Amino acid sequence: MLAAVLIVTAFLCAKLLLQFWLEILNAREVRAHCREIPASFAGVMDQSTYEKSVEYTLAKSRFSRVQLVWDVLILGIVLFSGLLPALYQKIVPSSGGSVFSEAAYLFGVGILLAIPSMPLDWIEQFRLEDRFGFNTTTQKTWWMDRIKGLLLTVVLGYPLLLLILKLVEWMGDRWWFWAWALVLGFQLVMIVLAPVLIMPLFNKFSSLPEGPLRDRLLALGNRTGFKAAAIQVMDGSKRSKHSNAFFTGFGRFRKIVLFDTLINQLSEVELEAVLAHEIGHYKRKHIPKMLLLSAAGLLFAFFIIAKLAGQPWFYRAFGFEPGSIVPALLLFSLLSGAVTFWFSPLFNLLSRRFEYQADSYAAHTMSEPDSLIGALRKLNEKNLSNLTPHPLYSGFYYSHPTLLERERALLKHAQV
Ligand SMILES: [Zn+2]
Repeated sequence: MLAAVLIVTAFLCAKLLLQFWLEILNAREVRAHCREIPASFAGVMDQSTYEKSVEYTLAKSRFSRVQLVWDVLILGIVLFSGLLPALYQKIVPSSGGSVFSEAAYLFGVGILLAIPSMPLDWIEQFRLEDRFGFNTTTQKTWWMDRIKGLLLTVVLGYPLLLLILKLVEWMGDRWWFWAWALVLGFQLVMIVLAPVLIMPLFNKFSSLPEGPLRDRLLALGNRTGFKAAAIQVMDGSKRSKHSNAFFTGFGRFRKIVLFDTLINQLSEVELEAVLAHEIGHYKRKHIPKMLLLSAAGLLFAFFIIAKLAGQPWFYRAFGFEPGSIVPALLLFSLLSGAVTFWFSPLFNLLSRRFEYQADSYAAHTMSEPDSLIGALRKLNEKNLSNLTPHPLYSGFYYSHPTLLERERALLKHAQV
């Protein structure tokens, strides 16, 4: 039992130390370049914007360090204070609870654990982001987002949880396979339904307004065989001045969403290049590939939960009595981050590969790399991106290659 506690503590501390070290490394790298904008970025930002981007990066890094320590402290208290088994005894009758009380316990703990991160989220939005002129969220929107999120979890999450617990009853030792199939099916349905039913609860989606931009993007859609109706504009400006574009869904349910902030910042030809990049994700089947990977990860996760549920020492290490599957589910969801964290660089490596492929598709479709390069430069400028991340930091955390890496790849592509 003591060994289990020590192993968990060691994993949590190792993760914290590495994250902290990466933050310090990155901040040092940014400070080393802070006086003058590096030559390779001469056209991207003017000096005062560059200084602001340095300040923004350093402020975010300081905030991250506070957040890292806070999260580990909360997790440590939750795991080792005896709070979780005490609540379990209160909510689930010792004579063996129904799946309803078991699910209510898991659900209640989940909501309880979401509370400690709220003050930091609030500070990030209304202090940090606000200080650099990015915040456009009102207090009302911020609180409504949380209430809507909670209601959605109740409506969708609670029934799913009940079904999983029922599967444990019905399927015996093989429950984990069926639970995996259920959750996977749920995820696939949500990918199709979320853009229609859930995302509109948070944002307004509209089709492109009539005009030359619409004509240009529709022409690109026709040229590449991408259904034009699937291109939509989202009111991202409701929450932030940050700009973005993303691709969602698969097959007939595909959709490309451009933020209104992006449309305001880029020229028409640059927007066309960004759309070509997003279509590139579709053409190269990046979403189905990522889904396949996450399905495999999910299957492995359920298998591990089933294995842990058979280990009395695992329960006792955290103050539970073996028997129900519920403590194993809960502990796994709390602890898995300390393990999956070490695999995130591999996942990001794959993600960056996909970004290069989408960039290459865009340059090919536009017959030139300059429009996309122009768009990326503007995006980095407007979002005050860190132009000089430490290679270890970007290698570990970045889902997209850095501006310099993308430019180099795009220009190399143009020479071939
Ligand atoms: Zn992309």
